[in-house]
Amino acid sequence: KPKLNVPLLLIRPSPPALRRWVPMATGPSLIPNRPCHHGDKVVVIMGATGSGKSQLSIDLATLFPSEIINSDKMQVYSGLDITTNKIPPEDRLGIPHHLIGSIGPEAGEFTPSDFRALGQSVIEDIISRGNLPFVVGGSNSFIYALLAERFNPGSDVLSGSGKVSHELVFDCCFLWVDLSFPVLDEYLRKRVDDMFNSGMFEELVQYYYDDTNRFQRGNRTGLQKAIGVPEFERCFRRYAPRKSDTWAGLDPVRRAAYQEAVREIKENTCQLAKRQIGKIMRLRDGGWDLRRLNATEAFRAAMAAEGSGKGHRWADIWEAQVLGPSAKIVKRFLEE
Ligand code: ATP
Repeated sequence: KPKLNVPLLLIRPSPPALRRWVPMATGPSLIPNRPCHHGDKVVVIMGATGSGKSQLSIDLATLFPSEIINSDKMQVYSGLDITTNKIPPEDRLGIPHHLIGSIGPEAGEFTPSDFRALGQSVIEDIISRGNLPFVVGGSNSFIYALLAERFNPGSDVLSGSGKVSHELVFDCCFLWVDLSFPVLDEYLRKRVDDMFNSGMFEELVQYYYDDTNRFQRGNRTGLQKAIGVPEFERCFRRYAPRKSDTWAGLDPVRRAAYQEAVREIKENTCQLAKRQIGKIMRLRDGGWDLRRLNATEAFRAAMAAEGSGKGHRWADIWEAQVLGPSAKIVKRFLEE
């Protein structure tokens, strides 16, 4: 893990439990535009899935007194922590994280309008504590809903309908962690294998069993679209798993049957990354001032280092090409 030679400024206790989210009334969520907070500074860390946003946010949060707000639309729900790639609590180094695992997936879909309302009030709370809010996550529709001054829930500007608004609710500094697509593609496919070795299959099997131990279609609406759920649902319909099945212990026939889902998960993750990069570029072309950090060399070194004991090289490159420049950008932004 990369480290700058700067002492940790703050190690904080875990964040207080988030006040319970109350689903909004049905019907179109027309959220009134809040008054603008032009003087209030917010740092936003953008990037495709797997590009190192969480790593960068923790590294930066040890340098600036800050709190993190998740902007990944699947990670807001509780459950499927491995499948949705939530940063594990022990890796958060005591830095408060908000809107991660805070919404019960049974309550229905947590929409961009919901995120706008709740996220803005979390940002205001963080600022009132004297901390710097870091918005971190790959869901650009959430980031847009949170920050655009004029937000219309009925128009999906990132998919091409309507004009991107570059007037923002807060004074924002955008860091975009990017890397060459072939390198990201290779990394994402390896990451899926790592996720299976860390319990993703077992997590999905439990997801499909209800409290009475019956295998059934998941009904936790919020999470139904998380990559891994639909892919396994198709496989599980043909070969229902036993509750005690483990990935390592599967017999060759079942394992071969489930490999199809793994293949699809790899493909769909790479497609997601491609779409996310397209949406980031749309925001940039629409006038958002994104500062691009190139993490290609760091990822190449990290993949080459696997099992070779040369992990320090990737950390040095990450610090020189991603963390160091980001820290400088944020420092300058705070001094402006
Ligand atoms: P859109 O609004 O078009 O869905 P977006 O940019 O708002 O796009 P993304 O975060 O790109 O949202 O998510 C799009 C889809 O990708 C999700 O509906 C889900 O299927 C999948 N996805 C996103 N994040 C995750 C995650 N952490 N884990 C699993 N699947 C995810």
